[in-house]
Amino acid sequence: MDRCLWWHADCENPIGSHSLSECWLRAVSDEGKSIVLRLNASKAGKEPVKIVSELDGVSRISVFKGFCSTHDNKIFNPIDRLDFEATKENCCLATYRSVCHAVASKYAVASTYLQTPNVLKSESPSELDKVAIKTMRECIDLMALKQQYEAWMNREIATEPIEHKFAFIEPRLPFCGSVTFLPCVTPTGRMLDVDQTWMSIVVLPWKSGSLVIFAIDRKSPKNGSLVVKMFNSIPQVWKADILFKYMIECGENIAIAPKWWFELREGVRNDILNRSFRNVRTSSTAPSNLFLQRGVPLTPCRHTIQGSAA
Ligand SMILES: [Zn+2]
Repeated sequence: MDRCLWWHADCENPIGSHSLSECWLRAVSDEGKSIVLRLNASKAGKEPVKIVSELDGVSRISVFKGFCSTHDNKIFNPIDRLDFEATKENCCLATYRSVCHAVASKYAVASTYLQTPNVLKSESPSELDKVAIKTMRECIDLMALKQQYEAWMNREIATEPIEHKFAFIEPRLPFCGSVTFLPCVTPTGRMLDVDQTWMSIVVLPWKSGSLVIFAIDRKSPKNGSLVVKMFNSIPQVWKADILFKYMIECGENIAIAPKWWFELREGVRNDILNRSFRNVRTSSTAPSNLFLQRGVPLTPCRHTIQGSAA
């Protein structure tokens, strides 16, 4: 998109905006670098397409073509710190940015499809066409959600359209990330009837631990509320594991502490990469059955980083 994503102003020249604040990324980094999971695009044609882990500098991680520099600084300044107050306005900023990141990602994919001549013209759509149509629909849905956020942020509507719930986990989790997705399964493995209602989860380093922010659309809160209710019902020791799975299976916007990553056994790291690839390969936001198994020991007991990283 060539416009700044803050549509209330008509500005151009979006910069590379962080969808995760740089100070959050620094808190899960070693010497300014974190682990990211991404497609091996640079090896295209030389090795099979897959997700690989890479060490990258925090100034490059989670960057997307989002806001102009004025709005990027002005809008998100209140949450660009590790001790911001968890008010509903600030939580709204964190999840709004996740929605904007999702809009930009879907838009980029949809535009690529639109440049493919056959898409949308065929009388019997191919599988590729179906994916293209689905992506475009999702992009439009997310734009509508983004506008709801902005209407509230601009005080055009009195009631917050999105309800925010929090959890605080201590000590700090070895990752931060955000995901906006259609919830299909609860943390306890209950399958949900998918109703095209998006929810967001943001996990960020906060004070001496990690803050988890859930955003639920008030218009149709059933699935989102169930996810949060079940999340609250599971033992504390499973919570990091579940959040990590939502991040890698329903999205790709995550930064992982290198120290923690390299301490994992190779088999565990490969399992994480496979779970993450499933999301890309199937173009689905639905977690797989793998999600229902606690096959990967990602429990926070041993694998946490202390608050000193702040
Ligand atoms: Zn702007």
